[in-house]
Amino acid sequence: MDLEDARATSHLLEGEDVPPVLEENTSGRSPFLLTCDHYGRSIPAILGDLGLPAGELTRHIAWDPGIAGVADALSKQLDAHLIAQRYSRLVIDCNRPPQAASSIPRISEATTIPGNEGLAREAAELRRRQIFDPYHRRIAEVIDARLRDNIPTVLVSLHSFTPVYAGIARPWHIGTLYHRDTRLPPLLLKLLRAEPDLVVGDNEPYAVSDETDFTIPVHGEARGLMNTGIEIRQDLIADQAGEREWTDRLARIFGEIEITLRAQRLI
Ligand SMILES: [Zn+2]
Repeated sequence: MDLEDARATSHLLEGEDVPPVLEENTSGRSPFLLTCDHYGRSIPAILGDLGLPAGELTRHIAWDPGIAGVADALSKQLDAHLIAQRYSRLVIDCNRPPQAASSIPRISEATTIPGNEGLAREAAELRRRQIFDPYHRRIAEVIDARLRDNIPTVLVSLHSFTPVYAGIARPWHIGTLYHRDTRLPPLLLKLLRAEPDLVVGDNEPYAVSDETDFTIPVHGEARGLMNTGIEIRQDLIADQAGEREWTDRLARIFGEIEITLRAQRLI
């Protein structure tokens, strides 16, 4: 790969490159608005392979394996609008504040990303302008329109996590991620814990913070929407049967949550 190309400062997406934003079910009637920051692992052609072997570009450092299938199917089952982002988190992480060092990571887990080393400020800004900004602008527009039209809106940010990180095995099957919302996360936790076969993480394997997250603080908390993140362990959704099982489970649970929120006049 030509590293001069990787550091290109004048243009990024062109020709065959896909648009960063992918939407499903834009007129879905569910109160749940689904987002998926790490849905895809595309890389703009001009960035080549970021200097990485193919094996690195398919594992969790590049995206959230398994979550795309769950997000698509959950959008259908819940009749919910899904807004997802197609480019790899190694190009720019759409769930990090752009000023954070991990926004365009030089190292992820133990892997150095050659295409991100010594990146010019203009090149970093180009990734932000062409990938990060359109995705978050679209989420903001959709929330604006829903609020204007008095459509109840509950933000659900979908992720998956690697079963082993830096040599440490993680016991949870699923985790909720939240910070300031005291309404939705307890309800979701209660229903997940009522499932007989699950080890449920309460803000595990991650907790949401303003420094390490973007989607929930900016689109959920700052706008006063009920919100939660969900993290599903990647080995559980590694094939279609797993994706189906977890989609069915989450569709059932969010169906119950919707009934409760409506009964409590929260939506
Ligand atoms: Zn993620």
